[in-house]
Amino acid sequence: MKYTAVTNQIIQALCNLVGPTNIISNPADLGKYAVDEMPRYDPHLPGVVVKPHSTAIVSAILHFANQHRIPVTPRGAGTGLSGGAVPIYGGILLSTERMNRILEIDEANFTTEVEPGVTLDQIQQAVEAKGLYYPLYPGEKTATIGGNIAANAGGMRAVKYGVTRHFVLGIEAVLPSGEVIHSGGKFVKCSTGYDLTQILIGSEGTLAIITRAILKLMALPDKREVLFIPFNSLADAIGAVPAILREGILPIGIEFMEDDIVRMVRESANIDLPLPGYPAYLIIILEGHTEEEVLNTAKRVGAICQRYGAVDTYIPAGERARRRLLEAREKFYPTIKSAGLMELADIVVPRSCIADFIARVKEISLKHDLPIIAYGHAGDGNVHLHPFGRGIDRAEWNARLKSALHDLYQAGASFGGAASGEHGIGYDKKAYLSTTVDKATLEAMKAIKHTFDPNNIMNPGKIFDLD
Ligand SMILES: Cc1cc2nc3c(=O)[nH]c(=O)nc-3n(C[C@H](O)[C@H](O)[C@H](O)COP(=O)(O)OP(=O)(O)OC[C@H]3O[C@@H](n4cnc5c(N)ncnc54)[C@H](O)[C@@H]3O)c2cc1C
Repeated sequence: MKYTAVTNQIIQALCNLVGPTNIISNPADLGKYAVDEMPRYDPHLPGVVVKPHSTAIVSAILHFANQHRIPVTPRGAGTGLSGGAVPIYGGILLSTERMNRILEIDEANFTTEVEPGVTLDQIQQAVEAKGLYYPLYPGEKTATIGGNIAANAGGMRAVKYGVTRHFVLGIEAVLPSGEVIHSGGKFVKCSTGYDLTQILIGSEGTLAIITRAILKLMALPDKREVLFIPFNSLADAIGAVPAILREGILPIGIEFMEDDIVRMVRESANIDLPLPGYPAYLIIILEGHTEEEVLNTAKRVGAICQRYGAVDTYIPAGERARRRLLEAREKFYPTIKSAGLMELADIVVPRSCIADFIARVKEISLKHDLPIIAYGHAGDGNVHLHPFGRGIDRAEWNARLKSALHDLYQAGASFGGAASGEHGIGYDKKAYLSTTVDKATLEAMKAIKHTFDPNNIMNPGKIFDLD
């Protein structure tokens, strides 16, 4: 692919557009923008970083980049796990960190309008101060809403609330030509032509830069309960999930895990979890409007799980113990990450297949002599798989990982799954997209990309390569 290199002349022209305090061009200061949180460290420096304050400046930058055929990589907080914000062709890295205003919280329409660089934490704090609720929690509160939308981030609460796509009512975005488009609005219904909001959600910065979003809000529930339930097998734990849902109980999260990760967190993160030594566990998170309501539901969930083989049910005594359970779950990823070489696949399968899929994962782990830790969202079928390479050198790790990943993605496809449930394809998983997306569908995606971005300047090399 032929792109124009970022020269001093180009930096000067960009400086004129964004102002000298909103640009970084000294190579020594660009390192932070060369990686995201993708576990395999593979840095690519941008030629220049620009930090626009407004849609008008984003528009001017894209117009300029398109005319000169310079690649543009959008970046929020860089917490993505698939290399989506890594500028693999160099060029311009467009950081939204200075577009960070909450423009409105509309209490009558239950909406908020935000700029893309606002973090999930800022949104949640601001709306909760008004008794409102943005319920999604895709794991990392420092992530920006622009990044959440571009990745269609999911998280633990998808079982009740769905994913980011279900909470975005409208979008303003800048096309590579510099034109500004608007779709959707402060309403739930809209049958007014093609739904560009939904096309841009999950597009990973390959079509346009999202510069504003209107999000749906709900009333803030007052009470929460968290259960920790041990089982004698993962199959029993997974078997209890449909039984809970069939009784009309809709937890906000149902997480599964096996003893290996629980032990690692207990030892490395020094979190004292109850009921040690069982093969599998569920963490179930409930919410409601009174203490009595959530406690009664918790007891019903415990009883259902016991019918399906649960050994016990731990209901924490207070908010501190509740918080500790959730903190333990949040420590899974950092704990594994600090243990050495590792990879993260987030394959999604129909939730009834989780136990069989994990049994297949264990065969793959043995075949390639590579430990693989599995845990994830039992309520929505999204399985996080961490092959890790303790005690082997990098060349051996790379070889084993490549063949293990091939088998894992094929296994996911054989259960009717998809290559990524929530982290996106980025460039980390490009090679596996075709395991679950057929040729005609891929061609339709490429045609959409070409319509939005005929010069292929928007985050090139992500999701798929253009021939
Ligand atoms: C500890 C940890 C836990 C996590 N847990 C979860 C989880 O449970 N569920 C989950 O879904 N994710 C999870 N993530 C991944 C990550 O937080 C999400 O992918 C998040 O959406 C990324 O947001 P960001 O602002 O960091 O985006 P970035 O990493 O900066 O960018 C992500 C993608 O969005 C594009 N992009 C960013 N802003 C824009 C914009 N304004 N317009 C167009 N494109 C844009 C980028 O080009 C890139 O392709 C976790 C990450 C960590 C580190």
